[in-house]
Amino acid sequence: MKVRVGFGWDIHRLVEGRRLVLGGVDIPFPKGLLGHSDGDALAHAVIDALLGALALGDIGTHFPPTDPRYKDADSMLLLGQVVHMLHSRGWRVGSLDTVIIAERPVLHPFLDAMRQNLANSLGVAPQQISVKAKTAEGLGPIGQQEAICAYAVVLLEEQG
Ligand code: MG
Repeated sequence: MKVRVGFGWDIHRLVEGRRLVLGGVDIPFPKGLLGHSDGDALAHAVIDALLGALALGDIGTHFPPTDPRYKDADSMLLLGQVVHMLHSRGWRVGSLDTVIIAERPVLHPFLDAMRQNLANSLGVAPQQISVKAKTAEGLGPIGQQEAICAYAVVLLEEQG
């Protein structure tokens, strides 16, 4: 079986007056992620992992932040477009592993919903998706609650 591996990372500033959306899940918190789109760092890391696996550039290549169409865009819809691209090229997702690093809020209660959303978008079972959360132990800008970042690794399989 032909396989390819992709890796993605993203970071967004945590600011007042914005929704906090991760993996398409709205999380109640006084601050949210700053961005041209909805700032969903997890969805963006997954998009970059998928595009990276196929050497198709990155999120900025396909959804430029200068394009008004992507102002406050739902990043899970952008993810859906990228999944369509990989399906149309004969690939499917074998597995996805992710880590979110956030000092606050506590993300554990929301991880299952993120996992289900990502499974729906990628067209796979939730058992093929992993969403984990860690803190930065108070260190650096993430530890000081100035930002949230996310990492994603994906395995793609050639559709038989
Ligand atoms: Mg981003």
